[in-house]
Amino acid sequence: MPSTAKTKKSSKPMTRQETLAYFESRLLEERNRVVKELGNYTDAFNLSAQDSSGESAYSFHMADQGTDAMEREKAFLFASQEGRFLWHIDQALRRLYRDPENFGKCHNCGKEIAFERLDALPHARYCIECKQREEDAKKQG
Ligand SMILES: [Zn+2]
Repeated sequence: MPSTAKTKKSSKPMTRQETLAYFESRLLEERNRVVKELGNYTDAFNLSAQDSSGESAYSFHMADQGTDAMEREKAFLFASQEGRFLWHIDQALRRLYRDPENFGKCHNCGKEIAFERLDALPHARYCIECKQREEDAKKQG
């Protein structure tokens, strides 16, 4: 048997870098999907920025309240569920690029968020325990 042959271990856990690369592609995948869904809305938004005919009064009004492009974008995006989702995905991508060390760690308790949870919800900021506690608090409040 040649000693140089590589043995392939399929159960080998992913390295940190592989995990980050995996979630980056998961986030970009989700992002593409939502951007497509939002396509019609964003077209309307772009138009409303130049056209005050009143046709898109809703988003135009929102735009007036913001202090900068980011705030306007956020206000607009938050007007729809897909938009909120997109915003959260962008935030997660920012975290991943700017602070890869802490990506996938719970913002509350600092524990690693379970892979299964992040796989289903790559933009998750809290571990399932903290998320559950937050939901419970909401119900009481
Ligand atoms: Zn936690």
